[in-house]
Formats: sequence, C-alpha cells, structure tokens
Amino acid sequence: MELLVVGSGAAYPDLPGAASSTYVVTHGDDRICLDLGQGGFAGLAGRLEPSTLLAVVVSHLHPDHFIDLVALRHYLRYEFEPPRRVRVLGPRGLADRLDGLLAQPGFAAEALDIEGRREGTIRIGPFSIESRLVTHTDESYAVRVSIADEPSTPGLVYSGDCGRADNLAPLIRPGDTLLSEVAFGPGPVPVGDLHLDGPSVGELAAAAAPARVLLTHLQMRRDPAATLAAVRAAYAGPVTLVADGDTFAV
Ligand SMILES: [Zn+2]
Ligand SMILES: [Zn+2]
Repeated sequence: MELLVVGSGAAYPDLPGAASSTYVVTHGDDRICLDLGQGGFAGLAGRLEPSTLLAVVVSHLHPDHFIDLVALRHYLRYEFEPPRRVRVLGPRGLADRLDGLLAQPGFAAEALDIEGRREGTIRIGPFSIESRLVTHTDESYAVRVSIADEPSTPGLVYSGDCGRADNLAPLIRPGDTLLSEVAFGPGPVPVGDLHLDGPSVGELAAAAAPARVLLTHLQMRRDPAATLAAVRAAYAGPVTLVADGDTFAV
C-alpha cells in the first residue's frame, strides 16, 4: 500500500495552502480516502481523479475531518453528466450535517452514498477496514487499513482524533505504520481536551511497537522539533512529522 498525505493540518492550519485531515491509501489502481477536511478536495483533485475513490472513510464529525465532502459532492454533481457517485462511510448524522450547511434535505445524497460506521471489520475493494471507537466525540473511530487477501502483511493504523492513546493499541500489529494525531505537540494536553501529545504517542508506540510512527494534526504554533523529541524520548523506532504531499510505502 501507499499512503499519500493530502492534508495534515488540524482545525485551523496557518501554512498558506495547507489542507487538513485528508489521507489517501492506494493499492494498485484502488484508492480510499481517510477523512476529507478543509482544503482536502483541492489536494485530491490536483493529484488524482476524486471520482475514482472506492470510498471516503470519515473518522468523526468535526469539520476538519469531513467538510470538503461538500466540494466533492459539487464536483461529482456538476462536473459529470450523468453525475458520478462516491461511497462515504461515517458516524451517525453525517448526511444531516452536510444537508444542514445548505438547508437542503437530500443535498448530500445527490452524489454521495453515505453509510453508517460501526466497530469491526469490513472489506472495501482490496482493503480490509477495521474500525474501533476512540475517546473524542461521542462517535469517533480509529482505523486499521490492510490488504484483505494478504492478512500477514503490515497495515496502516490511523488515529483520527483521539483523547486516549491506549485506545489505539488493540489496532496495532507487528510491522504496522502508526499515523497518529499529535495535536498538542510536546504537551501537555489541557485538562478536558480529548487529543494526544508527543509523550502519550511515544508511550503508546513503546508499548504497542509499530514499525514506524508518522505524526500529524499538529496544531499551529506547536514546536515540531520538540514534538518529535517528546515521542523519541519513549520510542526508539523511526518517527516522522508528516507534511502535505508526503508519500510513504506501508
Ligand atoms: Zn481534528
Ligand atoms: Zn476532532
């Protein structure tokens, strides 16, 4: 599999041109997209044909993880005759949130086939998608993506937004790449904020032993070097802070 980081920003990035929470996983000609935050659609459309995505898998209903479904819907609806459609998996209420932006019932359904998510494993094309609830909103998922027909090969575990690092441990298998949010950088996470910081990701990685840690969703004005150092203080494996446009073999 290949991971393409289309958007690594958090709720409000400060790099011109930055996109938030948008990750594409490719195997052969098949692709899925994990989250589609602000700026994510342009980042997708500038690199690949968005209508060919097998699915968009949404972690939770914060806008920095799903708001560019509006742009995707417009693209599919107005750029093609007849309109094309893309499958979307997300928490309960996703279609209502999108329809509410336009005050237009049925807005999302004109181009998006939205299905609910639940814990457990499903297959989408060649991909095995294992979802697990994590502590963040009342319905937030982390996910492990792997190749369904090659169960012994490494997978990608994506945290989504997550308030407890140990929620992710059951998803991580030997050889996996962990793509984890590190919103509060070197830390600490303020009391009541359900996000992770470098020390908590480092402690998780030391215990669960993924082959590699990719850090993302760093809030603006948090120190990247101090964030990396905080993870490395506990975890001896390779650690990278990702940037938009980065690609990784998984
Ligand atoms: Zn977020
Ligand atoms: Zn969130």
